[in-house]
Amino acid sequence: MTDLHTLLLRELGPEIVCSDEALTRDCSHDESEQAPAIPDAVVAPTDPLQVETLLRLAAEHRFPVTPRGAGTGKSGGSVPVRGGAVLTLHRMDHVLELDPENLLAVVEPGVTCARLQRDAEAAGVFYPPDPASLETCSLGGNVAENAGGPRAFRYGVTREYVLGLEAVRMGGERFDVGHRPVKGVSGYDLAALLTGSEGTLAVFTKLIFKLIPRPGEPGLLILYFPGLQDAVRAVTVLVQRRFFPMALELLDRPSLEAARGPGFAPPDDAGGALFCELEGLAGDEAIGRGVLDCLADAGCPPSGFELRRDPEGAGAAWDARRDVSKRLKARFAHKISEDVAVPRALLPELVRNVGEIADGLGLDSACYGHAGDGNLHVNFLTDKDPQGFLAAVERLFRITLLLGGTLSGEHGIGTLKRRFLPAEHAPAALAMFRAVKRAWDPLDLLNPGKIL
Ligand SMILES: Cc1cc2nc3c(=O)[nH]c(=O)nc-3n(C[C@H](O)[C@H](O)[C@H](O)COP(=O)(O)OP(=O)(O)OC[C@H]3O[C@@H](n4cnc5c(N)ncnc54)[C@H](O)[C@@H]3O)c2cc1C
Repeated sequence: MTDLHTLLLRELGPEIVCSDEALTRDCSHDESEQAPAIPDAVVAPTDPLQVETLLRLAAEHRFPVTPRGAGTGKSGGSVPVRGGAVLTLHRMDHVLELDPENLLAVVEPGVTCARLQRDAEAAGVFYPPDPASLETCSLGGNVAENAGGPRAFRYGVTREYVLGLEAVRMGGERFDVGHRPVKGVSGYDLAALLTGSEGTLAVFTKLIFKLIPRPGEPGLLILYFPGLQDAVRAVTVLVQRRFFPMALELLDRPSLEAARGPGFAPPDDAGGALFCELEGLAGDEAIGRGVLDCLADAGCPPSGFELRRDPEGAGAAWDARRDVSKRLKARFAHKISEDVAVPRALLPELVRNVGEIADGLGLDSACYGHAGDGNLHVNFLTDKDPQGFLAAVERLFRITLLLGGTLSGEHGIGTLKRRFLPAEHAPAALAMFRAVKRAWDPLDLLNPGKIL
């Protein structure tokens, strides 16, 4: 038992300070390539007062605290790389208010994204953000990473839905930021600053989300193309011609192969595919016809398509899409995954470069994801020595920035992309990042070693 564990047991009690080895091991890693780090203590509060106490003790005794939701992060954000305590918020999991009349929900941070979606739907309203990890990831983690997902194309990312939140700063001070009405411009927008702050500025103990009216029952149109470039070009065509599906997801050939299974059997000759989720398609087949006519008219018709208008059929295809990352991991001995984003119309350039980078280094690659947002999950894969990964990632980042893109569309910087941050941001911007961090956490005790 560490000294820190003993101190926290005395101050917070055995109900809150965990002595379970399995949970401690769980709290040593996330879903990224970041090496695990065992924390000195794990604290699992049920109440914001306990969060206050922990952060007061941390400032007094100078130990680091790493906030954690469900640990599905892909950039090392919840790994306690400097030791100290992990603050896991999974037990604070109550939906406190769901108000269809005012279109808002108030939740604790440990509620999963899927739970809020289901509760909202049962109340006749809609919470759009849908990271592929939605069944397990926490809303606290979603806000900390400003998570996206397929539906970000039409509805925007988590930030669009954060009206306000309750947060605790290092030192134990708890306060509210943001507002409950949809509009509010009083003071600096601290809710926006905290959204995407990766647990480095404050710990969220309550979240106020905007909801929207439920859209018409969607259906899924899967478009198959002979080559990846055809599929990518179709994205730009649809947007130029003012089609804004609920989601527009790309899968290249290796991703399609990984997705293949009982509920999803793409044609053998498909070189790329788009998952095009369309509002109202479940009840009106003509909506899908409009997309096909548009692509034919623009000279890039798909070589095949599937209409999945029933929730089960569409759900099976979406499950296959959400599993691509896991299945790629199972197929190759080594996998590294990035989530770069470029202006949408430059996607053809990006995917062409990914192919060249992989070929040049003798690696396999797979690209899939949120093509409608110009945000792709680029994977380099190999069964041999993965020493080419570093060069592959460096080249990928270089071309992404040359194309006017960003290193991370949704997974955050965490530990893994820290060293690349100066390639994207000017020294003056980096100095402002550091000044913000110092203003909120002068002792650098809250999630140290992340972003900066
Ligand atoms: C299979 C798979 C698919 C994924 N698909 C997507 C996707 O489509 N879109 C997407 O955006 N991401 C995706 N992700 C990444 C991940 O699920 C998201 O980043 C998610 O938001 C993390 O939530 P979490 O609860 O697991 O947070 P964690 O991994 O536990 O933590 C992530 C970060 O949030 C901070 N944090 C957590 N809770 C709080 C809190 N209450 N207060 C302050 N800081 C906090 C942590 O310190 C850490 O920095 C995927 C991951 C997997 C494994």
